[in-house]
Amino acid sequence: MPPYVVKDKCDGCKGKEEPLCEQICIGDLMTLDTETGKAYCRSLRDCWDCMSCTKLCPKGAIEQRIPYQLGYHGAKLIPMMGTDSITWTCVDINGKVERFTYRTRNKK
Ligand code: SF4
Ligand code: SF4
Repeated sequence: MPPYVVKDKCDGCKGKEEPLCEQICIGDLMTLDTETGKAYCRSLRDCWDCMSCTKLCPKGAIEQRIPYQLGYHGAKLIPMMGTDSITWTCVDINGKVERFTYRTRNKK
């Protein structure tokens, strides 16, 4: 499920020397296109689908495509990080939307 960058949403982390998606990817796969200033994954086949870049992007610009075995073209997962939860929006190939929210931190 490689990341897909929605170009209209990505602001290149506003000119940061190293954008957040690049910082978080331990495979060193995310980078900025020097011409467009937008991020992209430079080797989709090497992505191990950890979704770290997807969850960290402050603009919500990275969607995780669902592999064809599960969802076929057009199906996607979009995260929205909260302070102690994450909400996943799942869009299937017919455009049907479902949302799932999970706690990410234990409250004391
Ligand atoms: S973290 Fe998001 S906004 Fe920043 S460069 Fe990556 S995709 Fe673009
Ligand atoms: S999903 Fe994980 S491995 Fe793939 S590009 Fe994003 S941070 Fe890197």
